[in-house]
Amino acid sequence: MPGFEWFGDEERKEVQDVLDTGVLFRYGFDQARQGQWKAISLEAEIVDKMKVSHALLCSSGTAALSISLAACGIGAGDEVIVPPFTFIATIEAVLNAGAVPIFADIDETLCLSPTAVKGALTPRTRAVLPVHMCGGMARIDEIKALCVQEGLVLIEDACQAVGGTFQGKALGTFGDMGCFSFDAVKTITCGEGGAVVTNNPDRYSTAHAFSDHGHDHVGNDRGLESHPILGLNFRISELNAAVGLAQIRKLDRILATQRKNKQILKEAMADLPGVSFRSLPDEQGDSATFLSFLLPDEAKTRQAVDRLGKEGVDGCFYWYANNWHYYKQWNHLKNLHSAAKLPITLMPDRPDYSRLSLEASDRIMQRMVSMQIKLGWSEEDINVRIDKILRSLA
Ligand SMILES: *Cc1c(COP(=O)(O)O)cnc(C)c1O
Repeated sequence: MPGFEWFGDEERKEVQDVLDTGVLFRYGFDQARQGQWKAISLEAEIVDKMKVSHALLCSSGTAALSISLAACGIGAGDEVIVPPFTFIATIEAVLNAGAVPIFADIDETLCLSPTAVKGALTPRTRAVLPVHMCGGMARIDEIKALCVQEGLVLIEDACQAVGGTFQGKALGTFGDMGCFSFDAVKTITCGEGGAVVTNNPDRYSTAHAFSDHGHDHVGNDRGLESHPILGLNFRISELNAAVGLAQIRKLDRILATQRKNKQILKEAMADLPGVSFRSLPDEQGDSATFLSFLLPDEAKTRQAVDRLGKEGVDGCFYWYANNWHYYKQWNHLKNLHSAAKLPITLMPDRPDYSRLSLEASDRIMQRMVSMQIKLGWSEEDINVRIDKILRSLA
């Protein structure tokens, strides 16, 4: 997920524009900023690229999740269905909203299974929060149909799938709100940053206000604005937005390069006995930040991971055991360890996360390895890599 690989003169120029004016704040200072509006410009480019009505930049992907939950009215005691395979931020945002994460299994898309979501519904379910993991996509059409049928809010965590599409439509634009991350290791980076997108003008206004202490952003004197709601500060700075502006202009090339490199590896591995690939509801829309594959059983997978490591194939992730993107490693969640007492501890009938067990997800994750796709590989690099992979998995 390596926009940082292509950090260059374009990013430096955009940042220099901001430094030349000294206006690092996204609002106001109309005269001093000499026409430089980096956050607003990047929002316009996101709207254009994702074919969505509204985009709001914010300070991180985690902030985007918190803003989306707030803007969709998800709060105290509301149940939100989430997957067990995600970056912990998804779960943290739900807990910090005072809501209750309810885990449902993933399927071979590596994302929430629509059937499992159905099975997790209760009268308190208010929202479904699928995560488009590892650059690919959930069965978002089926999940959306279910949400419409059940009257549930749909928030997409597309933090890892910037630029991905399903049947030509941008991931993140199917739900009531979609979340993107532009942190240091995502497909495009702002250094730190994120965005929410939506086609709903009311949700956009609430999101905009919530992300900036409830400011209604009406008029041209910030000091005189009204504050209809309480909020927080999840604003992005102009410096970060400037980096993102240069990066989003590289997004198409980044995607094309990832897709080409991934395809070469995938073809080279296609005939390996016992190797199958992650299921992609629309392969063309895969943002191709990873090539994820499955082996026949856990023992063979552990052995393969070991061999890949010994051969020096870098960027391989065995999430099941070696990484904190899977619930097995979330001891802080299991014990509800936070800096201070979480709202959920006030609920006597809350789920007991220490007993969390998702066997269908385990059976997939035990056999699954993801390989990161880099932009900077030469043809030679890829050939050497393929030799090593074939030796490791033979
Ligand atoms: C990176 C990520 C986030 C959080 O984004 P930050 O910008 O790092 O806060 C949330 N969800 C997923 C799935 C992510 O990969």
